[in-house]
Amino acid sequence: MLTEREFIEHIAEPELELLEEQLHAAYKKAPLVHAKGDHFHCCPLCGNLLLRTNKNILICEDDRCRTKRNSEKPGRTI
Ligand SMILES: [Zn+2]
Repeated sequence: MLTEREFIEHIAEPELELLEEQLHAAYKKAPLVHAKGDHFHCCPLCGNLLLRTNKNILICEDDRCRTKRNSEKPGRTI
């Protein structure tokens, strides 16, 4: 998961110039429903967005990556 600033910096790289339009279409903003407090949390293993469940538990959006450990100790906070 990238911040908006990081995304803009990455797509400005010359090797991604031809993909800029596709990257804008593919990379969507994180839904606010998954914020915990006023922040989003990233998976400590893969860096993807952690989704907030109905029980207010954070789980990785990638079902191949989900582990109990992910919900107990989130990674980077954005
Ligand atoms: Zn993950």
